[in-house]
Amino acid sequence: MSSFQAPRGTFDVLPADCERRALLEAHAQRILGAAGYGRIETPAFEPTELFARGVGEATDIVRKEMYTFDDGGGRSLTLRPEGTAPVCRAYLEHGMHRLAQPVKLWYLSSFFRAEAPQKGRYRQFWQVGAEAIGSDEPATDAELILLLADLLESLGIRGTRLRLSSLGTPATRADYRQELIAFLRAHEDGLSPEVVARIDLNPMRAFDAGDRRTRETMRDAPLLLHRLAPEDAEHFAAVRELLDGAGLRYELDPTLVRGLDYYTRTVFEFTSDALGAQSGVGGGGRYDGLVQQLGGDPTPAAGWAAGVERMLLAAGELPVAPAVVDLFVAVAVAGDGGRREDRTRVTGTAFELANRARRAGLSAQMELAGRSLKGQLRQADRIGAGWVAIIDGPMQVTLKNMGSGEQSQLEPAAAIAEILRGGRL
Ligand code: AMP
Repeated sequence: MSSFQAPRGTFDVLPADCERRALLEAHAQRILGAAGYGRIETPAFEPTELFARGVGEATDIVRKEMYTFDDGGGRSLTLRPEGTAPVCRAYLEHGMHRLAQPVKLWYLSSFFRAEAPQKGRYRQFWQVGAEAIGSDEPATDAELILLLADLLESLGIRGTRLRLSSLGTPATRADYRQELIAFLRAHEDGLSPEVVARIDLNPMRAFDAGDRRTRETMRDAPLLLHRLAPEDAEHFAAVRELLDGAGLRYELDPTLVRGLDYYTRTVFEFTSDALGAQSGVGGGGRYDGLVQQLGGDPTPAAGWAAGVERMLLAAGELPVAPAVVDLFVAVAVAGDGGRREDRTRVTGTAFELANRARRAGLSAQMELAGRSLKGQLRQADRIGAGWVAIIDGPMQVTLKNMGSGEQSQLEPAAAIAEILRGGRL
């Protein structure tokens, strides 16, 4: 074992995992691409200020979960903890407000949060996200939610539940915040010390508390959903009607709290019973104030992000096709001494044959370990090669069909033609 290990809360993505991820990526590309979302990739780090301003100073993410460093020139940079603020930054930087709105973007990228690691919660993790910037139509919210539902369904994710709510506008929220703070102050005896300590910083979090006493107290707390301004209530009703019309089931959850400050109006979260404590698969909502907060014109927008690892955990088995190996190119002189020049010449022929096969669209692997011929045939069998080509000389190949055991001596070009004629096994 090496003296090094992947840092706590991080993991290696090994080839088999990569295949499952590639399948997830293909589903995301198909579903989001077909709906007109263009893929975007932003840098892994951004100015710290982007997240402080975008995500919110009071959030856990900004207060204690960011990997922040000095770039050597006195500027503070942060490994991206989320994707929405960077996408909005890119929207403004590239003048995308001049394009037809909404601008629909999606991403699959890695994110970094210094959280306490556990199953489904890592310090480097991947998210698929979708953002539609420049429309306040309820149809945008509904489409985004339906697209995430489609993605989860395409992956066969079991036991999903969708929770839905509305946070109204910042003005409503500010009034409500005062009302909630007053309620919490009046009921401090019934709240956990942790909640009391954060009343002014983030009172909404009180709804999220795990302890029974706080939960009981919070049953009588005023709800933001009951305080929505008429336009917001109307917007929310329209989103709900569209989801009802599409036959998507959801639960209203007036206490739904998201860990990012930029949300306005619609918020939602998908959870899966197939996951343990970290049951959130993906979520998002509307963030009508964010683009302006980052220096742009007032621009309504909505989006979501879903965790790749959580989706894969909840998806269980995915039908990953085993890798096909059409051809294994063996060399008769490898490993058993012989003159170096002879070996080099025969190996050169092997290279040529493998290249020719690959150019013809076949998958071809070469002997690289200096095994005996017997060992090479065993290796070909182990990897499930359909054919083995043994290089006997510069222009001669013994081609063996691993299915039937038949073999014949051919020139390299004829060997490739024979494999193509025989089809892939
Ligand atoms: P958020 O950006 O916090 O709204 O999270 C959206 C989704 O990303 C969650 O529902 C999770 O699936 C996933 N996620 C968030 N944080 C982590 C993490 N630390 N490790 C793994 N997945 C995460």
